[in-house]
Amino acid sequence: MCGIVAYVGAQRATPILLEGLQRLEYRGYDSAGIAVLSDDGDLQLKKTTGKLKELVAAVGAYEPSGSLGIGHTRWATHGRPNNDNAHPHTDCHGDIMVAHNGIIENYAALRDELLAEGHVFRSETDTESLAHLIERELETTNDLAEAVRRSLQRVTGSYAIVVVSRSHPGRLVGARLNGPLIVGLGEHENFLASDIPAILRHTRRMIALDEGDVADVTPERVVITTLAGAVVQRPITTIEWDIESAEKGGYPHFFVKEIHEQPDAVRQSLMGRIEQQGEDDKLTLRLDELDALAASGRLDTIRRVVILGCGTASHAGMIAKYAIERWARLPVEIAISSEYRYADPVVGPETLCITLTQSGETIDTLVATRLAREAGASVIAITNVVDSAITRSADATLYLRAGPEISVAATKTFVTMLTTLYLLGMWLGQRTGALSDETAQRLLADLRRTPDLMRATITGVTNDEGLGAAALISVADRLARCQSCLYIGRSMGYPLALEGALKLKELSYVHAEGYAAGEMKHGPIALLDPQTPLIAIATESAVYEKVVSNIQEARAREAAVIALASAGDTTIQRHADALIYVPRAPEFLSPLLTVIPLQLLAYHVALKRGCDIDQPRNLAKSVTVE
Ligand code: GLU
Repeated sequence: MCGIVAYVGAQRATPILLEGLQRLEYRGYDSAGIAVLSDDGDLQLKKTTGKLKELVAAVGAYEPSGSLGIGHTRWATHGRPNNDNAHPHTDCHGDIMVAHNGIIENYAALRDELLAEGHVFRSETDTESLAHLIERELETTNDLAEAVRRSLQRVTGSYAIVVVSRSHPGRLVGARLNGPLIVGLGEHENFLASDIPAILRHTRRMIALDEGDVADVTPERVVITTLAGAVVQRPITTIEWDIESAEKGGYPHFFVKEIHEQPDAVRQSLMGRIEQQGEDDKLTLRLDELDALAASGRLDTIRRVVILGCGTASHAGMIAKYAIERWARLPVEIAISSEYRYADPVVGPETLCITLTQSGETIDTLVATRLAREAGASVIAITNVVDSAITRSADATLYLRAGPEISVAATKTFVTMLTTLYLLGMWLGQRTGALSDETAQRLLADLRRTPDLMRATITGVTNDEGLGAAALISVADRLARCQSCLYIGRSMGYPLALEGALKLKELSYVHAEGYAAGEMKHGPIALLDPQTPLIAIATESAVYEKVVSNIQEARAREAAVIALASAGDTTIQRHADALIYVPRAPEFLSPLLTVIPLQLLAYHVALKRGCDIDQPRNLAKSVTVE
């Protein structure tokens, strides 16, 4: 996830690129850069680490002149956020510049191939291989768009790219596959950008490129082709949004925008980590980031796992515990970081510590992790921010690749954390030998379907035709009027109940508690009355019948029951006052789907109560104090 903007026309490109990047900074901000082609053929490159203001300062008085250029604000996935890794990236001679959003999955193989041919690499990024591929193709064609097409045919992964070349003045080439890219249409000038806000000051006419499109753009024309080179026509649309709603993708809040981004975020997390190989199309799990730690032999002594995290992260850990124990047959303990650090924990080389922090800066988690590591534990960090503090306290790091999450209340970092934990659980299961090949194949195949199932869940609960939206809104109406409510679930549904309650609390300030459903009669059931709704996670699982019994106990106390159930479950209808359906899915995938209506419920309750949704009172995005 990052921001790209490109310009070709008669105006000075640099101010247009910098202003465009400012509008895209919400998409990524660990480094930035521009490349501008001057009228006398000089391809000038400026890159800086840190926020965009560093680039603006560096450009300062020495503004690269010219009316063709590309710009990028980065959200690192491969390689630290430093100057060398900042985009645009160049070929061996500085003749071609490429800015890229996404992940080139087969970059390692491409890089080896190009290195063997004598190409010289200057960065650690996956992106740079694209610049060298295009360089190679330009040796046999003079057409930049054709060189880009041929290069992209070699690539697997996701991308939105823009390319300029010193030998092709007045020309921009852009392409996309599973990454956003639009063409902005001006008068004797044209634009390419990741997103609408970057071009809105200049034009309201745009073309949204389709998957696999390549756009060849000059000031006077735009030619769009498929990757194979067939010319295609795409409709021109007029943008009605103002800048503010454009930044939120047309949604009123980042929180709801990020809910909708979750399927893509999970897709990015899985990218390159599940591969189909061999004649029998077997699926293989690859977590290259863990290779060095595995090779060190330190994991050979592991007898237990401790997962450290706070808030939503610890709920992801609690759900994953069920999976990791089942797949790896290792005991898993979940520890809240702020407790763990003062608990004089029993920890040593027999412990694998999996540490979860979205920002990589959560102070309690940092300190608790250091404590475990000093005691001899091996540490695998799972975080969204490349090169953040936690990565320096870990033996290995798995990145979430969820892109920036702007809403304070977590959504896509929860689902990507859970996805990454599942991958890690399978990886551990394969190491311990507890996970059979057959089960691994099934789990990996299921996991690959998750983004589509999540998309279907969003459609189901927001779509009025299926009455999903109506059901959700009427439940939200009820919750918005109550003082307090309870969430219950069993097994993986229990931490999910905690997460649903947390979302409601933090967004809407309605008091909510999550309980293990079987615990109700040990106390909390005393809270139930007709004014205290009970939200029950009753999706298909091995404990479904037990949850239904607990629902009946609650109804006998006149509580209104709202059940989240699997599509097609008609039996549940007679036990619940309101129902929200999610698609049927294997039990371990269910939390990734069921969390979506829980998030949307919290959102609609908060809307009705007029709360500050993206920045709830008293909260902050990264918690860097104890
Ligand atoms: N994978 C590329 C990198 O790490 C692009 C990341 C982005 O989308 O900003 O540089």
